Amino acid sequence: MSWALSDFGKQLSDGTGIGELMDDLGHALAQERDDLCMLGGGQPAHIPDIEMIWSRRLREITSEPGAIGRVLGHYEPPAGNTDFRTSVAQLFQREYGWQIGPENVGVTLGGQSAFFLLFNALAGRCGDRCSKKILFPIAPEYIGYANQALGGTSVRSMKPIIEEIGNHEFKYRVDFENLEITDEDAAICVSRPTNPTGNVLTDQEISRLASLARKKNIPLIIDNAYGAPFPNAVFTQAAPVWNEDIILTLSLSKIGLPGTRTGIVIAREDVIDALSSMTSHVGLANVNIGQAIVTPLIETGEILNLSNTVIQPYYFRKSQQAQSFARACFDDSLPYRIHRSEGAFFLWLWFDGLPISARELYQRLKRRNVFVVPGNYFFFGLDDCHWRHRDECLRVTFTMPKEILQRGYQIIAEEVHAAYK
Ligand code: PLP
Repeated sequence: MSWALSDFGKQLSDGTGIGELMDDLGHALAQERDDLCMLGGGQPAHIPDIEMIWSRRLREITSEPGAIGRVLGHYEPPAGNTDFRTSVAQLFQREYGWQIGPENVGVTLGGQSAFFLLFNALAGRCGDRCSKKILFPIAPEYIGYANQALGGTSVRSMKPIIEEIGNHEFKYRVDFENLEITDEDAAICVSRPTNPTGNVLTDQEISRLASLARKKNIPLIIDNAYGAPFPNAVFTQAAPVWNEDIILTLSLSKIGLPGTRTGIVIAREDVIDALSSMTSHVGLANVNIGQAIVTPLIETGEILNLSNTVIQPYYFRKSQQAQSFARACFDDSLPYRIHRSEGAFFLWLWFDGLPISARELYQRLKRRNVFVVPGNYFFFGLDDCHWRHRDECLRVTFTMPKEILQRGYQIIAEEVHAAYK
């Protein structure tokens, strides 16, 4: 923009870094080239059995008297549709015994907006002398958090412990020994399963983080965008957790409805009231269609059945497929490791001692029409800018068809081999 911008305006409209990258991915997709290997985005797969359900629900909505008027013609309350909120609360009561009601459930414009509102409500300048931060206890973390907290310095991250498993696998763990929660920290936040790594923090790690947060009287925010009970892109044992000290976020995006922009927040009532007020200021109300599509599926439990019998097995198979292509293409002598794939839509690859940066590897792959995301973008908020590991990783999406995955891994392997020569 050519007019002078505020600090807020500068931070949000700065198109460098990830903005540039997303633009690259978008342009590549728009070209519709046959040889394109788009392994860069967080787009859910188009699963025919799931899309059939959306078509059925749209037909039901259009044929139900008065439904079109309600769904398309009403501003709903800013916290969301009451039937939807009630159905979500009852689902979690039934499944996990949580003592929650509709007052503990709020709707936002996708999970992304929930983070924007929550991070800025909790962190940033508060009064003359105090500035609060969102703490990410285990980097790398979801790229979408990086620029959310306004004020630039309102986030901090901790390096993980790297546990090497066998010759070609690894897993990040929270480094509790070095994790200190300070008076500057306004909240602790993790994604579980984690985007980009596919890590699922163990129940024990979550319980230790929750207790550290409780002791400091700050919330633990758990981003459950890929988690149970829906979409349940989880390949390991992990119980969803909530109590009054936790803010749990969910989304309808990864179950296949990203276009409806529906985020769900489960939290104590005062948090939901605050979110509702913020939503009314920023956008008046939310989008109704996603809530209308899934409410009966939540009421009957069909959403659980779909998540457990269609979505979970689908992504588990894709993860296995991607791992087998990676292992077949990467020479055993190559110092590669794959993060243990416990959930979400990505494989996280680490090339120890990679002679070029992940960003340069991205450029070389892009020239061959293979699009991935270089790992450095996911290590925001770290003090140690010289940690080499940040430049040795790639995030590669596995939701694409088999042929694209196979060709993509072949080309990644060729470029990585060439880089080590
Ligand atoms: N959280 C994580 C971990 C994500 O990967 C994403 C999207 O990719 C989101 C939140 C935001 O998703 P949405 O705004 O579509 O709900």
